[in-house]
Amino acid sequence: MKYVMAIDQGTTSSRAIIFNDKAEIVSMAQMEFKQIYPKPGWVEHNPKDIISSVIDVVKQSMAKADISACDISAIGVTNQRETTLVWDKITGEPVYNAVVWQCRRTAELCEKLKGKYHEFIYERTGLVIDAYFSATKIKWILDNVEGAKDRAKRGELAFGTVDTYVMWHLSKGKIFATDYTNAARTMLFNVHALTWDDELLNLFDIPKSMLPEVHSSGYAYGYTDERLFGGKIAICGAVGDQQSALFGQFCTQTGDVKNTYGTGCFLLMNVGDSPVRSKNGLITTLGASLDKRPPYLLEGSVFVGGAVVQWLRDEMKFIKSAEESQTLAQSVKSCNGVYLVPAFTGLGAPYWNAEARGCISGITRGTKIEHIVRAGLESIAYQVYDVVEAMKRDCKKDITVLKVDGGAAQNDFLMGFQADILNCNVVRPKIIETTAAGAAYLAGITCGFWRDLKQIEGFIKIDKVFLPKIDDGQRKNLLKGWHAEVKKVCQK
Ligand code: ADP
Repeated sequence: MKYVMAIDQGTTSSRAIIFNDKAEIVSMAQMEFKQIYPKPGWVEHNPKDIISSVIDVVKQSMAKADISACDISAIGVTNQRETTLVWDKITGEPVYNAVVWQCRRTAELCEKLKGKYHEFIYERTGLVIDAYFSATKIKWILDNVEGAKDRAKRGELAFGTVDTYVMWHLSKGKIFATDYTNAARTMLFNVHALTWDDELLNLFDIPKSMLPEVHSSGYAYGYTDERLFGGKIAICGAVGDQQSALFGQFCTQTGDVKNTYGTGCFLLMNVGDSPVRSKNGLITTLGASLDKRPPYLLEGSVFVGGAVVQWLRDEMKFIKSAEESQTLAQSVKSCNGVYLVPAFTGLGAPYWNAEARGCISGITRGTKIEHIVRAGLESIAYQVYDVVEAMKRDCKKDITVLKVDGGAAQNDFLMGFQADILNCNVVRPKIIETTAAGAAYLAGITCGFWRDLKQIEGFIKIDKVFLPKIDDGQRKNLLKGWHAEVKKVCQK
């Protein structure tokens, strides 16, 4: 057996990636599926699309690499987090569409809960009450789908995040499990006791019989049904996408941080064996592990990351492609005093201002498209700086290295500026599929395909290290300008 496979079930597509024993990608298949928007702010997926796309990409990736089930030592599953499914335990039939993490249908309920339960829920789960997490989505399904509550009370229904649903179907109902990283996003899991929390289940009126078993991310979960892929394959990993990327970036030590520059930015920091209470609006969550106890993480996100580049391209028409933003930004020496604050949908951590809206300031007669495009890229780095500062303050530790991945991490100008503003090294690996890689590493080590993470780390090459190149005075000035603009958009 010479390969390990990662299944990456994401928000807009499912992918399967096959790795060889040197952790190199030998084949990949991807399939997009339909996004369903029944009402403004509501987002759903058809559960059947999720499963059929997963099965298709697994088959396609095997065909492309010309290998069969017996050549694959193990599968690791990584997934869009928080997305909620409820299905019949016998037939596997979903009672409703998957309610996607982005879906805001329970926002009002969350607002109501905040006053009374904010502290209680934070204490138990490490989370800030929000429609994003699974608990209120499950409650919505049980309250709104006819007969669902009674069936759930009779023990007939199962709840799962996407990892659980995918493993349940690939094993034809034999695996009913999740991992700590996914359980920690449900708002039903006690991240200190590492168990489902009875009081939270009571609060949301969710029967315990609906919930899957919880294991470490690296764990022998079971096997795919042998009829699916021409022989059974072991499933030895399950992990939420952001935690998978953290593991795939080898951030297993206290103080290690990664940022994924996608549409938004997701920053995760490993804080070790004990949780850190955030005073700066970050949430506590659990990380991937190979043994019993998972590490605690701090997590913060930036709503508009690479999306500002899409906006400059699609709405402003200042650039033809995302890549072109780099050439334009590098063609001028600075932004010439221009700042762009992309608070298109408010600002996330550490500001948490839903009403803030974007602005471009400092425009003069000499301002050119190049300056605005550069200001757009710099705004991504400034927002990341604000989250990193919050992490530093919370855990009273300096951060000397930021590991990066995601689409916009390909932009050398942005990465260089990020190093300048953070005054730390920014490290970009050659392998950019870090999310899939994390799940593959977990599964591969668990099944004995690889010895340990150190062995894999030896195979992975660094693409580029960006070193800070500006002095403290310049950095202070730039940041002063940024924070003045953020203050203005927050006050409006
Ligand atoms: P997601 O997983 O959120 O879809 P990706 O990791 O695929 O995101 O990254 C896509 C995002 O990265 C887009 O918002 C795009 O504008 C941005 N992006 C891609 N390439 C570049 C680039 N060279 N420079 C700046 N931004 C880029």
